[in-house]
Amino acid sequence: MIDLRSDTVTRPTAAMRQAMSQAPVGDDVWGDDPTVAAFEATVAEKAALPAALFFPSGTQSNLAALMTHCQRGDEFICGQQSHIYRDEGGGAASLGGIHSQPIEHAADGSLPLDKVRAAIKGHDIHHARTRLIALENTFRGKVIPEDYLTRATGVARTHGLATHLDGARLFNASVASGRSLASLCRGFDTVSLCFSKGLGAPVGSLLLGGEDFIARARRWRKTLGGGMRQVGMLAAGCQHALDYHVERLADDHRHAQQLARGLATIEGVEVLACDTNMVFVSFPEAHCGGLGEFLEARGVLMAVSPVTRLVTHLDVSEDEVRHVVASVEAYFLQ
Ligand SMILES: *Cc1c(COP(=O)(O)O)cnc(C)c1O
Repeated sequence: MIDLRSDTVTRPTAAMRQAMSQAPVGDDVWGDDPTVAAFEATVAEKAALPAALFFPSGTQSNLAALMTHCQRGDEFICGQQSHIYRDEGGGAASLGGIHSQPIEHAADGSLPLDKVRAAIKGHDIHHARTRLIALENTFRGKVIPEDYLTRATGVARTHGLATHLDGARLFNASVASGRSLASLCRGFDTVSLCFSKGLGAPVGSLLLGGEDFIARARRWRKTLGGGMRQVGMLAAGCQHALDYHVERLADDHRHAQQLARGLATIEGVEVLACDTNMVFVSFPEAHCGGLGEFLEARGVLMAVSPVTRLVTHLDVSEDEVRHVVASVEAYFLQ
């Protein structure tokens, strides 16, 4: 199957499985897993942040970050369509007692800073205490502009707020912009990275931040059930992804462009956006069910809806993109 529903569907390669099976391990809850420790240290250094902590998922990494930044009754500012607000089960509220203040995104994915400033609450017992601004990069595949990130983290500092970056796909931003991981993390107190998306590891995220912050986040990770034991086997998969699957993200970005160009030529299909490894396409509503079935019969998986997100990744080749375009074309020609 050519699975374009997400870049989470990637499967570990033979070389990655080999690296995983040979990893030295220990009990990571005791801090004894050498592979996890080495992986955390390697990425912290790459990101130019003092410390890192390995998590089973990006959702848990984001939640532990929120719970470490904010107390019960505190508030964080985030995007209305951000993953941390919309796609993590409302954990900030239900598990953290943390209030959220969502802001509508601008077209480039950023949160307009006049709206952010207006949402920051002053000292008044009527309000939740604003503590944190959480941004996302890439957002729906879009690389958030560098000067915006500098201004946004500046606004946070001016108002005494902490900053968190959900960088689930920050490596895509890095490869697309030619900027180092460290420069994309600059100005943020904490950053969450995922290795289980386009990088192709089966499991694994990292939370990066200051030594003291990470020590406190480690406590929340345990509380949230994320303390894992001989987990070096998973960290080895992530380390392999870091060593071998970062530069090749450029292939995914090229494949997304190829997909967008191909689909744009088909009558009835409108390409709405194409950024890094994501293409957003509008199909006529009446065709959504039929198209999904037609494609599945031809070995293509898409979550077809009026606005369909197609994601390229490690397990999608240039020939397969050609097959996808030809299959969509065949559907609209019948
Ligand atoms: C995937 C993703 C996460 C984390 O998701 P998990 O499935 O919990 O690892 C967080 N933020 C964004 C933007 C994501 O795409």
